[in-house]
Amino acid sequence: MIRTRFAPSPNGQLHLGHAYAAIVAHDLARNRGGEFLLRIEDIDGTRSRPELVPEILADLEWLGLRWDGPVVFQSRRLDRYGSAAEQLKALGLLYPCQCTRAEVLAAAQEQGPDGPVYPGTCRGKEVDPDGAAWRLDMARAIALAGPLEWHDELAGPQPALPGGFGDIVLLRKEAPASYHLAATLDDAADGVSLVTRGRDLFAASHVHRLLQALLGLPVPTWHHHLLLCETDGRKLAKRRGSPALADLRKAGEDGRAVAKALRMDQFPTGLCLGAGVGFAS
Ligand code: GLU
Repeated sequence: MIRTRFAPSPNGQLHLGHAYAAIVAHDLARNRGGEFLLRIEDIDGTRSRPELVPEILADLEWLGLRWDGPVVFQSRRLDRYGSAAEQLKALGLLYPCQCTRAEVLAAAQEQGPDGPVYPGTCRGKEVDPDGAAWRLDMARAIALAGPLEWHDELAGPQPALPGGFGDIVLLRKEAPASYHLAATLDDAADGVSLVTRGRDLFAASHVHRLLQALLGLPVPTWHHHLLLCETDGRKLAKRRGSPALADLRKAGEDGRAVAKALRMDQFPTGLCLGAGVGFAS
């Protein structure tokens, strides 16, 4: 049976772009007789705002979306991330890094899908692991995993090409796990068989496919959908007039009608579907 999920990070209020993503995940599951899960990605210690979670649940209910089973919170699953990291350490694929963000920025020579590519400053060096971030030795990981493929329902078969990310952080200094590690482990733990997310995160799936191979996890199918953008391709932003769902809800708008319009590709003036030009992933 197919299983999808919507996985918002409670770093800010949901807007129409989130509504669109949630509807895609929900409808793909329901139209195929499958299940739709809700996962709150609340482990970004510096940005996560727990007080937004009840608002997010209320927004989804207002849109007429019902999820199956209990809501999953990443913050309650920290042990799993640690033990997966231990597995990777045992394979000799992680190394500690004490570089600050500013040092990485200053040393980086290339831009990757997640931003500046770490040039491997700490790789192979004696680094104090206490309070360090742990990075994946990407070249070794790719060599160990061998050639990999993944399948996007819309874009077709993809060779996994995670190399452009460089040595990504899997365990963060200020958070228990990176998005890449936590999302991959959770999708596997929850039996998510169709991973839906926006095109802005297409490249991330190369990394997730690699992690699945290294950790012996099941491989889902992916569905990277178009994103609701401003007509000039820019990301939706509240300051440019894209309302928070909570504001529409509290103003008495009909959430089911909003969802119906989004399903019919009817968007408010100034918004359209796009591939996400100008999105930072
Ligand atoms: N928590 C991520 C976000 O809000 C979701 C990414 C995903 O679906 O994998 O952007």
